[in-house]
Amino acid sequence: MSDLVLVLNSGSSSLKYQLVQPESGESRVAGLIGRIGEPEYPADHEAALVAAFEAIAAAGYDLAALGLRAVGHRVVHGGDQFYRPTLVTDEVEREIERLAELAPLHNPANLRGIRSARALLPGVPHVAVFDTAFFHGLPAAARTYAIDPAVAARYGIRRYGFHGTSHEYVAGQVPQLLDRDPATVNQIVLHLGNGASASAIAGGRPIDTSMGFTPLEGLVMGTRSGDLDPGILLHLDRAGMTAADLDALLNQHSGLRGMAGANDFRELSAMVEAGDSAAQLAYAVYLHRLRRYIGAYLIELGGADAITFTAGVGENSVAVRADALAGLDRFGIAVDPERNAAPARSARVISPAGAPVAVLVVPTDEELAIARAAAEVATGQPD
Ligand code: ADP
Repeated sequence: MSDLVLVLNSGSSSLKYQLVQPESGESRVAGLIGRIGEPEYPADHEAALVAAFEAIAAAGYDLAALGLRAVGHRVVHGGDQFYRPTLVTDEVEREIERLAELAPLHNPANLRGIRSARALLPGVPHVAVFDTAFFHGLPAAARTYAIDPAVAARYGIRRYGFHGTSHEYVAGQVPQLLDRDPATVNQIVLHLGNGASASAIAGGRPIDTSMGFTPLEGLVMGTRSGDLDPGILLHLDRAGMTAADLDALLNQHSGLRGMAGANDFRELSAMVEAGDSAAQLAYAVYLHRLRRYIGAYLIELGGADAITFTAGVGENSVAVRADALAGLDRFGIAVDPERNAAPARSARVISPAGAPVAVLVVPTDEELAIARAAAEVATGQPD
């Protein structure tokens, strides 16, 4: 048997795969099969997996002959019941299917990937790693919506939180980088990618996060609105918009793309610099929301030892990092302009030497975190 783990992330029309050595963190092969179901592309997830296996074989890894340690599957919604990486059985599949009620866009696609992979690699342990798991233990005050508890219980309405694998992975790196005991570190993690979320973590345990019942709550994102007054939905409903219209509006035609026409942050930044007023407003709204969450989490934590930026925008946008924390010197928070602008790729501190609050950039690696979790679960299984 090899020491490798295959990580799969199945979306509705795409399949991301990566072959990882979990201990060293080395990625051997990685790729994306897109446009599943479109003419001249793989017809379904099973066909996409076969194409992925061919690409992996072309890179010198025959998965069938090699013997994998595990296959790790990203699953978006674990509901109340899945809060740790879980060995997939038929029963677990049925539960993930049932949870599609809570995540209709994501869980069915995740499940198609799991079913296809179990059919193609039957002798290997398959492990589901849930995006919600890290936030399962949020304090009651942070996870509860202020609505009729009977309605909440009947429909499973609570704040679940998402991007948990990334928040956990990044938050785990910070104490090491600062050479501090993890139990003593209060931190804010800002995962700013196409989707975006913030979390407040005290001694390794999350006490709040910005995504809620769905990944729509919280920060302004590439195409999603984040927080808004729920009265707006009632108003638009009365004005004749359907649930499908509202879903498309809030998930696909809002956020940076909705406001400025571009959801790619590089494109948006170029528009801002060129003086595009819609892009400037979108950038201002994005930052306003981000700073509001940073402020809230500083208070919830009673002060932070570290504030960390991660994911595509967080890792790459010098301007967002500087603007998000501008003018906060009185709270001990500052970004060193030279450190911030250095063209580094690895995890690093960007606050001035000796600053009371460490500001960091830590590249996230959800695939590696999933590979490690899957390897750990698989190790506990009898052959
Ligand atoms: P997701 O995994 O949510 O799809 P990523 O974490 O890959 O997203 O982040 C994608 C976002 O990161 C895009 O908005 C992209 O424009 C932004 N991004 C990537 N590289 C840069 C860069 N060099 N400067 C600014 N933004 C960047």
